[in-house]
Amino acid sequence: MPFLVDALLQTCPRCGGRSRRQVLSKKLADKNVVDSSRTVYSRSTRWSYEESTTITVETYRYALKCRRCGHEWTELKTSQRSW
Ligand SMILES: [Zn+2]
Repeated sequence: MPFLVDALLQTCPRCGGRSRRQVLSKKLADKNVVDSSRTVYSRSTRWSYEESTTITVETYRYALKCRRCGHEWTELKTSQRSW
């Protein structure tokens, strides 16, 4: 999974090097738990009911360094999961 996330991050803002950056650290910057509900309708029984789901939204701060020019910068990335 870390490789997939890394692939989605932006290129170096200084030299534009795409494959030469390095993840120095990854820290949880923010976390929100959101309750949401949706109405589920069953066609066979003609019943509808409310189903509640919890969505966790996590924001990570990445410290990145370009291996080509040495530029260091941070980026925020949000990931969402529901259960
Ligand atoms: Zn660079």
